[in-house]
Amino acid sequence: MNILLTGGMGYIGSHVAVVLLQAGHRVVLYDNLCNSGIGVLARLEQITGKTPVFIQADVRATKTLADVLKDHAVEAVLHFAGLKAVGESVKKPLDYYANNVEGTVSLLEAMLDAGTRTLIFSGSATVYGDPHYLPLDEAHPLSATNPYGRSKLHIEEMLRDLSVADPLWRVVCLRYFNPAGAHESGLIGERPMGVPNNLMPYIARVAAGELKELSVFGNDYPTPDGTGVRDYIHVMDLAEGHAAALAWLVRHPGWHAINLGTGQGYSVLDMVAAFTKASSRAVPYRIAPRRAGDVAACYADPGKALRELGWQARRGLLEMCGSAWKFQNLGA
Ligand code: NAD
Ligand code: UDP
Repeated sequence: MNILLTGGMGYIGSHVAVVLLQAGHRVVLYDNLCNSGIGVLARLEQITGKTPVFIQADVRATKTLADVLKDHAVEAVLHFAGLKAVGESVKKPLDYYANNVEGTVSLLEAMLDAGTRTLIFSGSATVYGDPHYLPLDEAHPLSATNPYGRSKLHIEEMLRDLSVADPLWRVVCLRYFNPAGAHESGLIGERPMGVPNNLMPYIARVAAGELKELSVFGNDYPTPDGTGVRDYIHVMDLAEGHAAALAWLVRHPGWHAINLGTGQGYSVLDMVAAFTKASSRAVPYRIAPRRAGDVAACYADPGKALRELGWQARRGLLEMCGSAWKFQNLGA
């Protein structure tokens, strides 16, 4: 298939590009590089031996996007482009609505113009808000606690409305839990600009000696060791989930939401221990106050993905930490 990835030079998009290129698809990466670098392109070529088309442009440039969709006879779009830092979204809400919501409206208009109506959207488990029960299945009530989460929720609702209005659309919102790790080559991975907000890239930089210590945000949660529990999923498992969803979508018109998680929760201290083992480096930490807006525990019921897509995560914590460590030393 001819597939366009908005935000395809970013952390998740680049790993999905590897899986799609290796499966023989033709891939167009459409990215404004606001949170990624051009170097990813050469890394993708090195890993796959194939050269994806790259277009540097913003998803809000509707005409440009429509032209690219037409020029490359794009049959399906995977929409990763967007801003994703929760704290920043509280300080700059308009940036989040402009990039994420307005960006998606622009993409949908361009797709309509080009006659492409197959879309996979990068959703997030953040749309479940504070869990009422665990594990989280797709029927769990939705809510948002910050502008980033609201933008994700709003986009999901917009996509559902569109699918009701026009039954030719095929849309799946993949609700990611906590993506972690890197491609096994260590050539691509997650390298946030500035000091990382997320746990895994922060730990990697502490292990490398670039940051002094990890602040563990709270050890008085009602969890086995008191620290926050999350469902960490290897980014390559996540990438394979996209390929499975794409194949499935061809046979399933309408709007769908599917969790991509492992079903297994690990605490912050579990992650520190796993990274220490994988890297053979010390990860010094101190207990700090809870971070505002954090929930105690969040993990998926991954049953729908298995039933519908025939997909489940295969890689464990050591592979996540080992590949993240390799990327820290080789690729970052
Ligand atoms: P990322 O920042 O690494 O990748 C996003 C890419 O989109 C970047 O390359 C950036 O340059 C590009 N981009 C941003 N705004 C754009 C615009 N207006 N026009 C064109 N390109 C633009 O982030 P990621 O971790 O790869 O996340 C991808 C998607 O998955 C995002 O939508 C994010 O909200 C979602 N998601 C991520 C996580 C996570 O923990 N990484 C969890 C749940 C959901
Ligand atoms: N966390 C932490 N220290 C950090 C970053 C994160 O203790 O420097 C904890 C956070 O409180 C949560 C878990 O690690 O319990 C995962 O946080 P992250 O920001 O990676 O993902 P979230 O689930 O919040 O989106």
